[in-house]
Amino acid sequence: MTEKIGVVGAGIVGLAVARELARTRGAEVTVLDKEHRVAAHQTGHNSGVVHAGIYYPPGSLKATLCREGVAMLRTYCAEHGLPYDEVGKLVVAAGGEERARLAALAERARANGVPGLAELDALGLREIEPYAVGVAALHSPHTAITDFPAVARRLAKDVAELGGSVRLAHPVRAIRERAGRVEVLAAKRIFAFDRLVVCAGLGTDAVARMAGRPGEVRIVPFRGEYYALTGSAKGLVKGLIYPVPDPRYPFLGVHLTRHVDGEVMVGPNAVLALAYEGYSWWDVRDATKILTWPGTRRMAAQHWRTGVKEVYGSLVKHAFLTAARRYVPALTPADLERAHGGVRAQAVGRDGRLVDDFVVDVDERVVLVRNAPSPAATSSLAIARHIAGVVPAPSG
Ligand SMILES: Cc1cc2nc3c(=O)[nH]c(=O)nc-3n(C[C@H](O)[C@H](O)[C@H](O)COP(=O)(O)OP(=O)(O)OC[C@H]3O[C@@H](n4cnc5c(N)ncnc54)[C@H](O)[C@@H]3O)c2cc1C
Repeated sequence: MTEKIGVVGAGIVGLAVARELARTRGAEVTVLDKEHRVAAHQTGHNSGVVHAGIYYPPGSLKATLCREGVAMLRTYCAEHGLPYDEVGKLVVAAGGEERARLAALAERARANGVPGLAELDALGLREIEPYAVGVAALHSPHTAITDFPAVARRLAKDVAELGGSVRLAHPVRAIRERAGRVEVLAAKRIFAFDRLVVCAGLGTDAVARMAGRPGEVRIVPFRGEYYALTGSAKGLVKGLIYPVPDPRYPFLGVHLTRHVDGEVMVGPNAVLALAYEGYSWWDVRDATKILTWPGTRRMAAQHWRTGVKEVYGSLVKHAFLTAARRYVPALTPADLERAHGGVRAQAVGRDGRLVDDFVVDVDERVVLVRNAPSPAATSSLAIARHIAGVVPAPSG
């Protein structure tokens, strides 16, 4: 009998997993998503950067799956006529005190096998980005940009062509295991699967609870707000300009990114949101759940100074401009206008630790992706191969 596998979430990770399971195991896959379109959340609200693998601790899942994922995504985009443009990235040290951290980053990037790296001085970096300033920079010429929602839509087509289905407007409301199968209630229907893979991003905790697996880490939503460059200011950025990240955080700091449609974005910051899908300040509908998790309170106690700075940056446009002008001083207030933001699903431990690596939690019937923040869009095809390798094979 054909193995039936359900996948919760039609973001780039869920769709890549569904395609991989249909392709390599011949499984009949059904993807369930509560929204009316694929890529409605993180996959559709991000920087669009195909990360080269600079930042992640060598040997971590992020480091390994990012490098593998880049190669797979590049081929996939070429095969399907999807945008993929190696615009290159500069990680810029704005002052001398950042040099040591930049050197450590370069070493890490080399250990991860990032190709084509060059360490540049103040003049060298201007040859790459004529309007950028800094004392030194790391250049990654193969860092690329793509259109992740378009990739997700293509993956959904693949799923359908492989005999599977993507069911939108199907919020998963209950899960139970019965007679060796996983039953899932969605849109007033019960689906019965042999295995279930949960790739629900911001909805992970709710679905994990339905599956009786609340777990030791919880999702804490971090809103990432952007400004768009207007008019001729777009010409001030050729590719991707990033700060040297603060090693205490998994976030990369406000950067300037060219998108495949020609827009240039400044952002994202990282502000604690009070709703899982908290795209605006006013949405506080999950405040109680988020704030009563001991991990959130411990995290806030450890990082309140940064938190206050991020809130200020969110409310005051000038603070955002100041962050961007450290790297591109020619920018003026008129060059920035508010744009759509995204919300990151970041796992936080009970002790307040921001979980750095990807986390996949496997049991016999239900596989839960607990943490798939950036660079999970870049790594999605490799994450899918990894997950297909850990979903237990059918018994008997
Ligand atoms: C601001 C920002 C910038 C980023 N920049 C980059 C970048 O440049 N490069 C990069 O590689 N990564 C980046 N990322 C990270 C990347 O976007 C995510 O890691 C990736 O999209 C995760 O994909 P996903 O499929 O796991 O999650 P999502 O895309 O969030 O998909 C989860 C899906 O699950 C569905 N769902 C949830 N609950 C239920 C339920 N109960 N029933 C049915 N469906 C449900 C949701 O509707 C959603 O469609 C960024 C993220 C953000 C927020």
